[in-house]
Amino acid sequence: MGDLVKKIAVLGSTGSIGRQTLEVVRAFPDHFRIIALAAGNNTSLLAEQVNEFKSKIVFFEGDKTPLDKMGLDYKFLPLEDIACHPDIDIVVAGTSGKVGLKATLSAAKAGKKIALANKESMVMTGEIITAEARRNNAVILPVDSEHSAIWQCLRGETAPERLILTASGGPFKGYSISELEKVTAEQALKHPTWFMGTKITIDSATLMNKGLEIIEACWFFDMPIDKISVVIHPQSIIHSMVEFADGSIKAQLSYPDMRLPIQYALTYPERLSNENFSKINWNDMKDFTFEKPDYNSFPCLKLAIEAARQGGTYPAALCAADEAAVGLFLKNKIGFMDISRLIKQALDEHESVTNPSLDNILEIDIRVRERVLQMAGTNS
Ligand code: MG
Repeated sequence: MGDLVKKIAVLGSTGSIGRQTLEVVRAFPDHFRIIALAAGNNTSLLAEQVNEFKSKIVFFEGDKTPLDKMGLDYKFLPLEDIACHPDIDIVVAGTSGKVGLKATLSAAKAGKKIALANKESMVMTGEIITAEARRNNAVILPVDSEHSAIWQCLRGETAPERLILTASGGPFKGYSISELEKVTAEQALKHPTWFMGTKITIDSATLMNKGLEIIEACWFFDMPIDKISVVIHPQSIIHSMVEFADGSIKAQLSYPDMRLPIQYALTYPERLSNENFSKINWNDMKDFTFEKPDYNSFPCLKLAIEAARQGGTYPAALCAADEAAVGLFLKNKIGFMDISRLIKQALDEHESVTNPSLDNILEIDIRVRERVLQMAGTNS
């Protein structure tokens, strides 16, 4: 394949998206080469990955002993330098939280193809990132299943009338507010259909994940918030839909498997046959159901839509408040319904900045997180 081999950096290689990206790469050794791997603290897994994929550039935050023990030959570079490195074609932004923000921006400035799984990048800095990408001919390829579905439905089409994001409803679908007050982090971490990291799993349980995805969809597809709706589809087979002017709707379907949207982003515009993916068995499709989201039991969804409507730095404040509140919930310091309460309080007192710079946003991020901890009466 020679020059056709795509050279890839995986940011967040030991996380859920990163590991699944490497599974896709492993299935197509002639198509992809891993040039750089970046991880946080899981340096033992990182060392194995560096060894297997012969990655020559590495970033990590944790203890470097596991890498030394294997006698690996690599060059350490900061995340932002990896993201704009001249040897790299595609940057997979798979870190969670705002860690990936600056790196994503750096990749956009360098005109890279960015397979974007990091929600916070688009939600907090959608305006800045899309503008930088446009200016520098960077291409942002969605990796999230919903956005990948919409992207696939939009191929060959112009002017969609409405985007319909599907949501599984999470593990607490159908719960009343009083039942939700009592759920624990342990229960919330059991997601019915998708396997993901802890922050995003809690976001799926509160439906904040869907809220963040709506905001992302606005930026990805240049759609106003009021042309995006959400439908609960617990089987997670339809990954999202697009409606056109004539009322026709296109949907993308598959069994829930993140490797498929990851592979599509990496191979686009091609499609490759991957024997690891299961094809839909229509005899399984007995219950194919749809329902309206319950905005009362899951106020996070409404808070996200409201933040998107208000624009400015509201989405960034939403993200920051959510990350802080979810952190507290995971430490059993607040209840499940307190997550949305704290976010609402943080947004109510937020003073939005129009046309914010990255520094404005990072400052707001710190301030809002501190405020959430303060409101919750804790400092950790
Ligand atoms: Mg999703």
